[in-house]
Amino acid sequence: MGTLAENIQNLKSTLPEKVLLIAVSKFKSIDTIQEAWQCGQRVFGENKVQELAMKAPALPSDIEWHFIGHLQTNKVRLLIPHVSVIQSVDSLKLLKEINKEARKIDKTIPCLLQFHIAEEETKFGLNLTEARSLLQSEDFKAMKHVSIRGVMGMASFTSDKDQVNKEFATLRSLFNTLKEEFFPKDSSFRELSMGMSEDYPIALQHGSTMVRIGTAIFGDR
Ligand SMILES: *Cc1c(COP(=O)(O)O)cnc(C)c1O
Repeated sequence: MGTLAENIQNLKSTLPEKVLLIAVSKFKSIDTIQEAWQCGQRVFGENKVQELAMKAPALPSDIEWHFIGHLQTNKVRLLIPHVSVIQSVDSLKLLKEINKEARKIDKTIPCLLQFHIAEEETKFGLNLTEARSLLQSEDFKAMKHVSIRGVMGMASFTSDKDQVNKEFATLRSLFNTLKEEFFPKDSSFRELSMGMSEDYPIALQHGSTMVRIGTAIFGDR
């Protein structure tokens, strides 16, 4: 493990140019995030609404905050003013709430649909049937304040590389299916958010466009 600056630099030099590095700053202090910002990092990921809403106003306004955790509908209102992208949309009900709160402040929120691709039951996310029914619904078609930009998923927490490969291949294929069925002419549907500190090299092999990296930047939480 190097210094914060070295870790960011090393990652940036290994990632393909078009892949967005999201620095996952959950549990990290405002000072630590400020230090990463001074290294040029501008995109950060958080998984708790309260934490993001506390940090965002205390840090430079050119930061792009991505919400990557499980989101409850009753927390959406607090999140909307601060967030740039919500990566963890896992129900129509949640998307309706995001649309409603975004409309109130005249914002359009880029969103990713989160898929359940891991073996662990504890992880959140849609399956293909649920995603199709969400995207086919009249409720969804009427929404003007959300924009679906792609998909997100977390692989199983395992050292079994074949398993991780299989899961990222699954997410890639879900992305392709939705692209073909619902967004063939929409060039803004293009994001495949997959890969964390331990598995991002495998995710890149499967076409990841966004990696969400915490430990490999900031050290252990
Ligand atoms: C914590 C977290 C990450 C980052 O995990 P690391 O192993 O620290 O890189 C990525 N994605 C999500 C959804 C997370 O909750």
